[in-house]
Amino acid sequence: MNYRKMGSLPWEVSALGFGCMRLPTKGLLHRVDERKATEILRYGIDRGINYVDTAWFYHFGQSEEVLGRALKDGYREKVHLATKLPMVLVRGADGFDKYLDEQLRRLRTDYLDLYLFHMLNTAQFEKLQRFELMGKMENARKQGKIRYVGFSFHDTLPVFRKIIDFYRWDMTLMQYNYMDTAIQATTDGLEYAHSKGIAAVIMEPLKGGQLAKPPAEAMQVINGAPVRRTPADWALQFLWNRPAVACVLSGMGSRRMVEENCASAEASGIGSLTADENRVIDELAAIYRRKILVPCTACGYCMPCPAGVDIPQNFAYLNYKSIGADSGFKSRLIQMFITRNYRRLAKSCEVGKKQNNGRASLCTKCGACLSKCPQKIMIPQQLERVKAVFEKGKSVRTI
Ligand code: SF4
Ligand code: SF4
Repeated sequence: MNYRKMGSLPWEVSALGFGCMRLPTKGLLHRVDERKATEILRYGIDRGINYVDTAWFYHFGQSEEVLGRALKDGYREKVHLATKLPMVLVRGADGFDKYLDEQLRRLRTDYLDLYLFHMLNTAQFEKLQRFELMGKMENARKQGKIRYVGFSFHDTLPVFRKIIDFYRWDMTLMQYNYMDTAIQATTDGLEYAHSKGIAAVIMEPLKGGQLAKPPAEAMQVINGAPVRRTPADWALQFLWNRPAVACVLSGMGSRRMVEENCASAEASGIGSLTADENRVIDELAAIYRRKILVPCTACGYCMPCPAGVDIPQNFAYLNYKSIGADSGFKSRLIQMFITRNYRRLAKSCEVGKKQNNGRASLCTKCGACLSKCPQKIMIPQQLERVKAVFEKGKSVRTI
């Protein structure tokens, strides 16, 4: 494993961090498969991963519980453990201690290496100040419950700069990948955090897995590149190439993913990409920007939908349809499978067996999901496009 500077902190972080929002699941209810999750977490740590990230909401609370048990038998001491205060649930200053103590219990630990304010945006940042939560964070630090302080971020560059300037943070968790250089905190935000000695940990390096499944046009670019890499490896190397990046989080759900990502991390380095390799990444980014119709990262924050719409799955199908909309037999076959899967999704809801697994047309436009989406996607409108393609037979090129 390669290790990198963690901002101004007195320890080095593994280039690859283990994100615990996409652990392996089983059954219709998608409960975390604890045996598999424990196995891959420990395998990753044995390969040198020393940074593990979770949050109150991940897997509807199971992520922290499962992680707490997986880190027994000496694994807790091998990692820097990070979790996040669920800002959207905090209703007053006393919420801070309530959630922190419960998270320490779930994680079976006396202290967190990093505690983050989760999903800071304009509204949550205002709440942080109104409830004077920085003081709470300082107290928890004095009590030894927290070692370092950070925030995860979903808003625009001006808000990011304001938050960075507000406090002497130890780290920030920000969305960044070769497609998102100009949205969210942007490249300027990444560099700004770095200039202040704040460690930047990266989330969504593969944009919810989309950069690992390229359209045919992008595969041609990858196949003609001067170096052989998988699509995911291109996306990860883009990040590790930058000195401002401390650690790249990957939400890994299988041993194969852990193996591949560890191998990528071991072959990474600051400034290691050549000009030709950077040109390949620029070309891939341009192709993806043309193809992806909805910038959904499948984070699941909008779920559950009271009407039973599986929001991220609907957007995934629409994007797959658009990404695969090239000519050729293979592409037509893939299109057929996507449409069949959408119909199965619809059917499973019609028979009433899976309330939270339903088609776009179940949306009642109640708007409950809108404020929860960190990507600011106009979910009901975008679901109309899903409906047009999968239920009315429109082409993705015309919606
Ligand atoms: S607007 Fe539609 S998708 Fe969003 S929560 Fe309401 S019913 Fe669900
Ligand atoms: S629609 Fe938004 S909140 Fe829902 S899964 Fe996609 S990115 Fe996340």
